[in-house]
Amino acid sequence: MIQPVLATTQNPLNIGVVGGGIGGLTAALCLARAGHHVEIFEQTEACVATGAGIQISPNASRVLHQLGLQGALMTSGFLPKATQMRSWRSGRVISETALGDAAVERYGAPYYHIHRGDLIKMLVAAATAEPNIALRLSSGVTGFEQDASGVRLVAGEHERQVDLLIGADGIHSFVRACLWGDQQADFTGNVAWRMLVPVNRLPDGRIAPNATVWWGPGKHFVHYLVNGGDYVNCVCVVEKAGWQPESWVEAGSMPELRADFAGWHRSIQELLAQADAESLFKWGLFDRAPMRSWGIDRVSLLGDACHPTLPFMAQGAAMAIEDAIVLSNCLSSGADVVAALQHYEDLRKGRTASVQRGSRRNAKVFHLSGLKAWVRDRAAARAGKHSMDRLYRYDPLIVGLDAATND
Ligand SMILES: Cc1cc2nc3c(=O)[nH]c(=O)nc-3n(C[C@H](O)[C@H](O)[C@H](O)COP(=O)(O)OP(=O)(O)OC[C@H]3O[C@@H](n4cnc5c(N)ncnc54)[C@H](O)[C@@H]3O)c2cc1C
Repeated sequence: MIQPVLATTQNPLNIGVVGGGIGGLTAALCLARAGHHVEIFEQTEACVATGAGIQISPNASRVLHQLGLQGALMTSGFLPKATQMRSWRSGRVISETALGDAAVERYGAPYYHIHRGDLIKMLVAAATAEPNIALRLSSGVTGFEQDASGVRLVAGEHERQVDLLIGADGIHSFVRACLWGDQQADFTGNVAWRMLVPVNRLPDGRIAPNATVWWGPGKHFVHYLVNGGDYVNCVCVVEKAGWQPESWVEAGSMPELRADFAGWHRSIQELLAQADAESLFKWGLFDRAPMRSWGIDRVSLLGDACHPTLPFMAQGAAMAIEDAIVLSNCLSSGADVVAALQHYEDLRKGRTASVQRGSRRNAKVFHLSGLKAWVRDRAAARAGKHSMDRLYRYDPLIVGLDAATND
């Protein structure tokens, strides 16, 4: 049973959202359901998702359920049974955390694996059906200025005056650069390969219905099922020097990827042998240190624009989704716009920074070798089944509402 989004406003605002990615679309939906009027400006001709699979943990899925997307998620998503860490060569299971029904019982919402294209499609369909949202495609925001009464912006052929502006425009955020200056993101020394493998090319039952992470020296390999279980989504991360920032995404070469994972377990070799070559590409992983401040007065940021997060906790999109509902709660509280945006930032900065740092730490921990890897494996086994409680138990639906707490 879907409950209505908790906060509704007595004072509807006109809100501009820059970017129609997972964060911008979710924010628009939360704000519109609270009674605000939202215009999304997306630079591309259609909202598209780069990459294949994405994991949506309970802290984020509870927001998507609240927005009425449970049916669509159940139809196109996949419910993994567990997260499993395995050793790169032997395949030994290092640690395991139950998901599936156990996640719903423990956290009150499911853990999904889903194709990014499906997630974006369901968010666009919901936004398009929402009378309080106008989605403007081919409308890159190229300038804005604010004063005490609002923000004037230019986006393609549109010129608008809005009460506030949210930059949900990704790691290369134009809005952030206008507020704080243009600084390059840092290359982390890791390259991610992504590919899809049709399940029907693999022996029956070869891929367990889990999120499986294989840890190895200088590399790790993640796979999980998407498209209702028809494809295996693989993310293969390799430490490499010298990525050029201009070549953000490149087509990958299968021989290079196979060479990177030579000597790994036979399940990995099988996936590499059966992958769809056209689905393969590689991508430099960049990040930024947590920001001291996100917004200025009537302009703020959301998602990767303010806290780009490495994928090693599978939480970047989840953080953008959490931001979306907390922003909406704050703006619906009756406080003035500037105070509400500051409150949103104060509520979100600590948690998103800790996930950024944790993901950065995992980049090192996943790739240890020798004695350090042995110590890591023992610690992971001891950490037990509930090591993600703090992350997954967080309920963003109540953050920003009076007297609400997640402690
Ligand atoms: C390999 C990899 C695996 C990942 N796996 C996971 C996972 O399993 N779980 C998870 O939660 N997260 C994961 N993430 C992180 C997640 O993909 C991102 O955190 C998330 O997509 C960020 O969403 P966003 O809406 O903030 O930004 P984006 O998705 O980057 O969207 C920004 C949008 O803004 C638009 N835009 C940019 N500039 C302008 C402009 N000037 N005007 C108008 N529009 C503009 C862009 O076209 C784009 O549509 C992963 C990331 C990587 C790299």
